[in-house]
Amino acid sequence: RHRRLVEADHRHLWHPFTQMQSWLAEEPLVVDEGDGVYLVDTLGRRYLDGVSSLWCNVHGHRVPEIDAAITAQLGKLGHSTLLGLASTASIECAEELARVLPRGLTRIFFSDAGATAVEIALKMAYQHHQLRGDAERSEFVSIRGGYHGDTIGSISVGGIDLFHRIFKPLLFQVNQAPQPYCYRCPLGKRRATCAMECAGAVEEVLERRRGKVAALVVEPLVQGADGMITQPPGYLRRLRELCDRHGALLVCDEVATGFGRTGTTWAVEQEGVTPDILTCAKGLTGGYLPLAATCTTERVFESFLGPHEAQRTFFHGHTYAGNPLACAAAIASLRLLRERRVIEGLPAKAAALADALRPLAEHPRVGEIRQRGLMVGIELVKDRATREPYPYAENVGHRVILEARPLGAILRPLGNVVVLMPPLAMTEAQLRELAGIAGEAIRRATAEA
Ligand code: PLP
Repeated sequence: RHRRLVEADHRHLWHPFTQMQSWLAEEPLVVDEGDGVYLVDTLGRRYLDGVSSLWCNVHGHRVPEIDAAITAQLGKLGHSTLLGLASTASIECAEELARVLPRGLTRIFFSDAGATAVEIALKMAYQHHQLRGDAERSEFVSIRGGYHGDTIGSISVGGIDLFHRIFKPLLFQVNQAPQPYCYRCPLGKRRATCAMECAGAVEEVLERRRGKVAALVVEPLVQGADGMITQPPGYLRRLRELCDRHGALLVCDEVATGFGRTGTTWAVEQEGVTPDILTCAKGLTGGYLPLAATCTTERVFESFLGPHEAQRTFFHGHTYAGNPLACAAAIASLRLLRERRVIEGLPAKAAALADALRPLAEHPRVGEIRQRGLMVGIELVKDRATREPYPYAENVGHRVILEARPLGAILRPLGNVVVLMPPLAMTEAQLRELAGIAGEAIRRATAEA
């Protein structure tokens, strides 16, 4: 069966963000089952799911409460629309989500992926200013190295050159500020002497584009896809102040960081910041079904209020937005977060993971280990002293994940950064085991380099 599936995969499936010629030359791991924090492949081998199936699985796989909620919903209604109708599941889901949103965020617009949640945030921010008579505010500011999805709008505000370069002619112009990447500061600063010039650079952009900026878009606390780039304390707070001073909305993209990933329900909490718009997706359904949300303050929502003839409609909507099955999964996942006191248990788990990773920090090929909660990036370097990166062609991150498989874990690289994004449900012992496997895989993959 395994062989037949591999052949069919190679014949038909085009994988996302994948160099297909390399894919076709390799033996793929075919996931067949989930079992708690483990995945099982078609050859019956078990792996710790070290990346929560692309950062979205919160409670593990085949969680009885979530399975039951989806099954019960399936017995009532598989799909309906939010265009002109409401559904029980979508209302209850919005209510559950609103309960945990940062104070001040009350309005929820559903969609189906992180990228679309961001796309919606951009259109909403733009239209918000238009409706308030501020027609000049049509530009966005974002941060280099940011990742907000792969649709044209979300790529436009994204800042990972490798993903975006090829599409440049299709994108709209965005003002980008330097990345707060302390290990390789683009402004040439060192942590000891830094006065957060990266935030100062955002201020310069806002000054330069005074009165023209609709919103500043940022991943709060950690830029995930560029390699778990952790921001200096106070950075997000500074951005909030700058947006307030310059009349721009602050859009915080919590698609990766939301639902406990960084140790608190939302990353923005750690900076005491409430954004004007917050986007979330991945962990919303516990990693079960596609659902995303763009959440706003009353102030943003009120811009869209007006009589029929005023045409204040927000012209956006997807066929599957607020799908009842996805909403049922989200309700069950949000309830589990509360009932199992998942967030309360995270500091001890994060500490156990940090402790287990500590010996790895001394490894000659490890430049830096960056961690916030259960979100970890281990940056590999050719030379610790000079911080010389591995050349792209050496594909060292990929070599690490191939070494990790026979050791019993699924990991994912981001270039030269090895990522750990385990389900929040992992026990401290499992987190230690995962860290051990990552360490051993790094040792093996870099031994001959
Ligand atoms: N925003 C952030 C911060 C992300 O990390 C991602 C995906 O990794 C996205 C948006 C896009 O989400 P999706 O893949 O669901 O479109």
